[in-house]
Amino acid sequence: MENVLLQGNNKEGFSWKDLGNIKKGREALGEEMPVLVYRLMQYTLLDVLTKTHGKYQANEYFRQAGYLAGMEFAKNILDIEVDFGTFVANLQKKLRQLKIGILRMEEFDETTGEIVLTVGEDLDCSGLPVTGDTVCFYDEGFIAGILEVYTGKKYNVHEIDCWANGDRVCRFRGKAQ
Ligand SMILES: [Zn+2]
Repeated sequence: MENVLLQGNNKEGFSWKDLGNIKKGREALGEEMPVLVYRLMQYTLLDVLTKTHGKYQANEYFRQAGYLAGMEFAKNILDIEVDFGTFVANLQKKLRQLKIGILRMEEFDETTGEIVLTVGEDLDCSGLPVTGDTVCFYDEGFIAGILEVYTGKKYNVHEIDCWANGDRVCRFRGKAQ
């Protein structure tokens, strides 16, 4: 008997082509939609995961999903053969174009690979009520995934400032493992 779970294009987990041909499928509505809709999905999903698995594990799932997204984003959208300066400039351009956020590189240590960057008007958190917590776990994973594909090193990325923590931008510190 055929295993229905192995049908379709999702045999080994997520791949870029699972996103489909959005342009073709949404001829009248187009490829964009309000941030409100993205956040509605994000924060209701977080709520369900938190109720089922607890806050820590729910955030960890978001971090893992972000990591997967970052890896696929880097492989499918970014040129990873260019020098670091060009890579950052291209990443900045893409993140702005896709309205994910406004990226600024604050520090990069070429020897250790340690990196500090900020994201302004972050898709996930900019404008949220200030709770005193950082909330951009998906972004932590997303940045770690992108850095890993580009550098070939595993990264630990930690958000040190966030809109939800009372800051104007999200600030991330990444350390190569
Ligand atoms: Zn944030």
